[in-house]
Amino acid sequence: MATSIHLDTVRKEFRTLGNTHVAVDDLSLDIPEGSFTTFVGPSGCGKTTTLRMLAGLETPTSGTVSFGDEDVTDLPPQERNVSMVFQSIALYPHMSVRENIGYGLKIHGVPKSERDERIDEAAEVLQIEQQLEKMPSELSGGQQQRVALGGAFVQDPDVLLLDEPMSDLDAKLKSDLRVEIQRLHQELDTTVVYVTHDQTEAMTMSDQVVLLREGELAQVDPPKRLFDYPNSEYVAQFIGMPSTNVVECSVTEQNSVTSLEGPGLTVPLPAEVKPPASDSVRLGIRPQYLEVGSTGSCTLTVDVEVIETLGTESVVHGRLADGTNFDVVSDAVDDVSAGDKLDVSFDISDAFVFGDDGDTIL
Ligand code: ATP
Repeated sequence: MATSIHLDTVRKEFRTLGNTHVAVDDLSLDIPEGSFTTFVGPSGCGKTTTLRMLAGLETPTSGTVSFGDEDVTDLPPQERNVSMVFQSIALYPHMSVRENIGYGLKIHGVPKSERDERIDEAAEVLQIEQQLEKMPSELSGGQQQRVALGGAFVQDPDVLLLDEPMSDLDAKLKSDLRVEIQRLHQELDTTVVYVTHDQTEAMTMSDQVVLLREGELAQVDPPKRLFDYPNSEYVAQFIGMPSTNVVECSVTEQNSVTSLEGPGLTVPLPAEVKPPASDSVRLGIRPQYLEVGSTGSCTLTVDVEVIETLGTESVVHGRLADGTNFDVVSDAVDDVSAGDKLDVSFDISDAFVFGDDGDTIL
């Protein structure tokens, strides 16, 4: 039965050669029962350490981990109904695919007929029905990772922990497997916690995304909310591809109207918006929320440097008058070339304003 997970001021320190390193810094978090929650963040921010504490492979230095109402902080892995799949695939080379997937069930005494039924179901969803009687050495990397996932899913764990299970696969296999993992999750009553540094995986698969920064929680929210309402410049920059454009602006006031002034840009703030207290702010504009032309309320001009075509839309990489990097995502730039000046516009309600400490203030 899926369980909710609660972390209460969980801290993990590692001591090496007399130095103390805080890998996870007083992290408090709720993971709803049956949800798909993804941890993202740059290398070293504490994702794997957090996952290992959920598995029971690391013990927190302080704080508590609970599954539902049960405090599991000090429970060893075998006393938690948890399965884990790692980046490196660990299959038993002398066992067939069927035996590998069913191994966990076998050691838990599940009868053969039920084992076979559950293996066949998982194999169907993961599209490895044809491989069941083969040996792992006869499979591709993607098929081997499917077998590892199948083995974890058939055990029907309360919590399934996946640590970068797709990082060694190519882009096409990744996109297929993303869908299959979601199908498995829908069919089973399991809380999934997934670790990745691939934000496409985080944004496409998750009910909620946990973004960490140096062991601390930067923001936890559903993917779309994280994209549209980042609470800081760090979140706005990390989530979204290409990254959010950030433009240094001064805050000016004329005839009781407060405006943000940047390179080739004046953004009058609506009267109902409380003006920033400081003289300067950083304005964040997502490349996806720019329109080509001057239809939006704020306009600026981009010196086009490079255009990348991604099928239906293109990414225009350019600079503003002061050299600030500035990207535009649009499906209306077919006749734009490097060296052109491209007028774009946006609506202030789609932009973010970051204060001195990097927090979103508007
Ligand atoms: P990556 O994306 O690179 O896997 P991560 O976000 O999963 O990174 P962790 O592996 O959790 O990060 O590591 C967090 C920090 O704790 C890092 O600075 C790491 O060097 C340190 N760390 C992790 N495990 C240990 C350990 N066993 N001993 C000492 N330091 C450790």
